[in-house]
Amino acid sequence: MTHTKPLLLAALAALHPPTTTAQVIDRAKGDPKLSEYWEPAAPVVTPGKTPQDAPSDAIILFDGRDFSQWQGARRPDVPWTLKDGAMVVKGGSGGIRTKRGFGDCQLHIEFRTPAEVKGDGQGRGNSGIYLMDRYELQVLDNYNNKTYVNGQAGSIYKQLPPLVNACRPPGEWQTYDIIFTAPRFHDDGRLRSQARITVIHNGVLVQHDAALWGGTEYVGAPVYKKHGDKEPIFLQDHGNPTAFRNIWVREL
Ligand code: MG
Repeated sequence: MTHTKPLLLAALAALHPPTTTAQVIDRAKGDPKLSEYWEPAAPVVTPGKTPQDAPSDAIILFDGRDFSQWQGARRPDVPWTLKDGAMVVKGGSGGIRTKRGFGDCQLHIEFRTPAEVKGDGQGRGNSGIYLMDRYELQVLDNYNNKTYVNGQAGSIYKQLPPLVNACRPPGEWQTYDIIFTAPRFHDDGRLRSQARITVIHNGVLVQHDAALWGGTEYVGAPVYKKHGDKEPIFLQDHGNPTAFRNIWVREL
């Protein structure tokens, strides 16, 4: 009975006709399994309890307990203050950087500008997160505090203003979630591809796959200078007691 199976399929098709246009088209094209693939499977990562908590494959850079992942820019130990699960910039002591380097990464970091507002413009809660030791994502209190837009919180300093100002008031904890693509260089030092960055500030997109023009310069135009595939993350001492906590990174 060689024709039993086709008859059975025809009977089933009559009972279960295609219900959408897409299904009709798929059946006309053939087997939908032909456009599926199953390997390699995506690695399993256990997410944190909240989006702020580190997932299982993250490298914890600071959990509030110690500076073991960090060193001072001017000295081997970290001269900043550890207080209530946060690290606080000690003005005049210099910045700090991670002991290990990172290239393409996803970085979560929380910061708090001082509750007591002192100064204005660039003098209010100024710090900075330097990806690869040279590309600064600005940290600043820009809650009702005007400054040049390419130097405000969420900007890539002196390059790219944020899409919006998503600052919380001074003294409140804020989050940056950063997706960074390192620049690529030719062997002879010429730039092959720009660094790119996406930044979500307190859940709000402020940099959308933006291309950087080079390393951060205070004076003059940014330029690219060839560097390693992985470089430390640097946190700036700009003289204000800005605090950081809950810092983790995923290498991409
Ligand atoms: Mg800064």
